[in-house]
Amino acid sequence: MTTRNLFLLPGDGIGVETMAEVKRIIAWMNEKLSTGFETDEGLVGGSAYDAHGEAISDSDMEKAMAADAVLFGAVGGPKWDDVPYEARPEAGLLRLRKDMQLFANLRPAICYPALASASSLKQELVEGLDILIVRELTGGVYFGEPKEIIDLDNGQQRGIDTQIYDTYEIERIAGVAFDLAKTRDNKVTSMEKRNVMKSGVLWNNVVTAVHKKDYSDVELDHMLADAGGMQLVRAPKQFDVIVTDNLFGDMLSDVAAMLTGSLGMLPSASLGAPDASTGKRKAMYEPVHGSAPDIAGQGKANPIAMIASFAMCLRYSFEMIAEADMVEKAIAEVLNDGVRTGDIVDAGMTPVSTSQMGDAILAKLEALSA
Ligand code: NAD
Repeated sequence: MTTRNLFLLPGDGIGVETMAEVKRIIAWMNEKLSTGFETDEGLVGGSAYDAHGEAISDSDMEKAMAADAVLFGAVGGPKWDDVPYEARPEAGLLRLRKDMQLFANLRPAICYPALASASSLKQELVEGLDILIVRELTGGVYFGEPKEIIDLDNGQQRGIDTQIYDTYEIERIAGVAFDLAKTRDNKVTSMEKRNVMKSGVLWNNVVTAVHKKDYSDVELDHMLADAGGMQLVRAPKQFDVIVTDNLFGDMLSDVAAMLTGSLGMLPSASLGAPDASTGKRKAMYEPVHGSAPDIAGQGKANPIAMIASFAMCLRYSFEMIAEADMVEKAIAEVLNDGVRTGDIVDAGMTPVSTSQMGDAILAKLEALSA
């Protein structure tokens, strides 16, 4: 039986509560489907600071690097507001992304039919929506140098950020987007601002060249990022995979996320380059939401974002497509049945707890696998 190593980092607040539901699903899969998952667990964020005085220890970092995939809950909370900057909870997340060189951030925006009425857009625009935003995560204006505020001689200051992309960075993110499109509806829309930015011209040229060389069987469109934002709220179902840089991806993925309702529903994945010898990519899967201190410890958290992140892990790290489909179907059916945590509850419904949502999803999995 294949062994699959998962390193779990629940983190703080509701990260711990939502990861507990994923652990139950992993145990169920091992027992019922002989999936052979082996899990180890570490500390990240405030809980790691309390134990070791840093946001992630070197030994947990090593385990993350060695695992087939990392599942991450959430970090942060008021308890750690005053810890030294280098040890703040988010530093653990940033170190994981940096050391594992996770350059591709995948954010699906899926609108479950049962929640379509909760979207800020008209139901018919979002019902059945299934798009994937692929954001470049380690380059661009958030990291480019110079990055500074300088004093000018005239009593003014100047803030400078630098947008930089090299060919290889665009090639590798484009490759990820085209590969993913092949597993979906085979269409990529690349977004940049080539009309006003040189990095946008290069982005457009490189994506076009990668397409021509290796992916001419995938449909490719180019769109200016501002027009893309408009199209995302006008007619989101026209898209399949959107690939874009760090800054535009940050904004466009948040816009797309809100088409589908609550933060408690949004999974994500971050992927690195394929290993030269094994071909396996380093990967971390995490919900988009934070540690939600306002509801932490009360059993109110929606575990679906964390469970859907695990489904992405099944799909992208282990190519367990049938199992990933099964988990996503179980989520959709549970929502159809009207099982809702407080964040997605409709008027007249009684909200269930985190573990009751886990129970309902496990019961559906049991039925789907029968
Ligand atoms: P948040 O995502 O934790 O919460 C925002 C709101 O959404 C809250 O009202 C919360 O109750 C609700 N919410 C979030 N996830 C939910 C879920 N699964 N089920 C039900 N309701 C949910 O964002 P915030 O309040 O701005 O930040 C809280 C802490 O989390 C801060 O310390 C922040 O730095 C940290 N944070 C961490 C991450 C991460 O670990 N990736 C991301 C964002 C924020």
